[in-house]
Amino acid sequence: MERTFAMIKPDGVRRGLTPEILKRLQHKGYRIVGLKQMTIARETAESHYGEHKERPFFGELVDFITGGPVVAIALEGENAIAGWRAMMGATNPANAAPGTIRADFATTTGENVTHGSDSSDSAARELALFFKDGELL
Ligand code: ATP
Ligand code: MG
Repeated sequence: MERTFAMIKPDGVRRGLTPEILKRLQHKGYRIVGLKQMTIARETAESHYGEHKERPFFGELVDFITGGPVVAIALEGENAIAGWRAMMGATNPANAAPGTIRADFATTTGENVTHGSDSSDSAARELALFFKDGELL
């Protein structure tokens, strides 16, 4: 069974989309093995998005992700890493397939409602960044 890190970003939490997104995860069949609403420290955000630190939008991205509470989620399920990415849809909501979270609930790349780990290495790294041993089922 695979585990991945999912997050409802500040725009999603602010807009009250948390129950809708948790419902989709549950209906899909994933098990939520960790869940917390929290505000991300700047250094945690810089580490989480470290792969993007040379990109022009990095400062804006860190400001956004630390700008309000997020919901951090540890998910477990068959093929959960790719499966959750598929449920989110493309990074730019304009390119996201109908029925995906980003197509249904977002209009901009900067505020695209959810995050999902993009590989098993990222999943392990991000789960360890957001959850301590003993916090997960
Ligand atoms: P995430 O990592 O948040 O799940 P992703 O893997 O689909 O999203 P990445 O390429 O990892 O996309 O980019 C991380 C985040 O940075 C995006 O979700 C988006 O919020 C922001 N981002 C990416 N590209 C741009 C851009 N060109 N302009 C503004 N923000 C961007
Ligand atoms: Mg990414």
